[in-house]
Amino acid sequence: MGIAGASGATEQIAEILDKYPGGIKLVDSIEYLVSWARANSLWPLVYGTACCAMEMMAAGSSKHDWARFGVEVARATPRQADLIVLAGTIVEKMGNNLVTLYKQMPAPKYVIAMGSCAISGGPFYYDTYSVIKGGDRLIPVDVYVPGCPPRPEALLYGIMELQEKIRKEGRRNPWNIRNVLKTPFLDLHTEAKLDWAAKEKEQESVQKVAQEQFKIKNPDYKAPKAKRIVKEKFEDLPRKARAGKNVLNQDFFAALLEKFPDIHLFRQSEIQPVTVSDLGPEYLLDVEIPKEKYLELVQFVKEDERLQMDLLLQLTAIDWQDHFDILVQLLSTVNDHTMFLRCSLAKDEPAIETITTIFQGAEWHEREVYDLFGITFNGHPDMRRIFLNNDFPGHPLRKDFEDPTRVVKRPY
Ligand code: SF4
Repeated sequence: MGIAGASGATEQIAEILDKYPGGIKLVDSIEYLVSWARANSLWPLVYGTACCAMEMMAAGSSKHDWARFGVEVARATPRQADLIVLAGTIVEKMGNNLVTLYKQMPAPKYVIAMGSCAISGGPFYYDTYSVIKGGDRLIPVDVYVPGCPPRPEALLYGIMELQEKIRKEGRRNPWNIRNVLKTPFLDLHTEAKLDWAAKEKEQESVQKVAQEQFKIKNPDYKAPKAKRIVKEKFEDLPRKARAGKNVLNQDFFAALLEKFPDIHLFRQSEIQPVTVSDLGPEYLLDVEIPKEKYLELVQFVKEDERLQMDLLLQLTAIDWQDHFDILVQLLSTVNDHTMFLRCSLAKDEPAIETITTIFQGAEWHEREVYDLFGITFNGHPDMRRIFLNNDFPGHPLRKDFEDPTRVVKRPY
């Protein structure tokens, strides 16, 4: 591009005027004017993905008022914007959408990466499977504003830096889209970990020498014994029974056993209804049920007059390494009583019936479990991933999940 972002006509004018005395100066002046106008009329896109977005909004509101710098009304469409502030964490699923938004913005366009998440993945990159290690892996970034989160003043400074950059654009220094960062990142944390281990080793040997010297100098020294502090004993507080109709755990369990004699309490198989009360009023009924009775039992607890478990609170899974547990938490709004139903699934056959026919709200809970654990729900109306891209390798909440290409463990 000749004159940054200017039309072909302007380029031709430059070619004609350059030949005449003073022509170059004239073209330079026009370029300066165009760049000055562009720098002072930035149109940002409405784009914020996490906490940094709050600071960005503060930068745009009355106290800081980025309009003072010509950064005017944030645009709701990329076609009217020439600045995108990456304010917040960028996750894998957002990646493609961010690139689309950037592509739809007319050139010349600029990007500010605001906060550690947008710069390098921030605190969330580690121990997670979905965070991208910085916006510059997807689109070219012009200015980086460090912080977690950066204050609005820091963003304003970043904007001023960007304006400075834009003001210098012209034929001699054209708008340069540059390359997206594709190089593998330097794993500074692993390096730091190795450094730290070497230093600790060095420290240990220094300490050993010092200890030996101390023993020579003080042969009779005996380390004082630490005194055990006597713990204060507090009185037991009386536990309050649950509100509601005062339906007891033992009544619930008895009603269940009556219909399904082969169920038992989780990790307490010897407990019977009469002894459930020994577990105390705060105990949350946690019932283990066989897989083949799962659907029938969920239906039963919902419809039975005594139980009336009418609200699904959550459906999730646990990976116990040798098997999975499907965990359903239900609430009876009538009795104000909560209970867990738990069903064990074999690792090599992670599938179970859907309960969407009984609780419609289970629809996205089951999709989440499918996405993160790889457990399928037979008969589910829409069994697809909900958070991650379809080509995401594996299921990240499984204990055996490993993606060596991107998951980096914290060195501490
Ligand atoms: S950099 Fe800090 S404040 Fe900003 S989005 Fe990330 S965690 Fe939130």
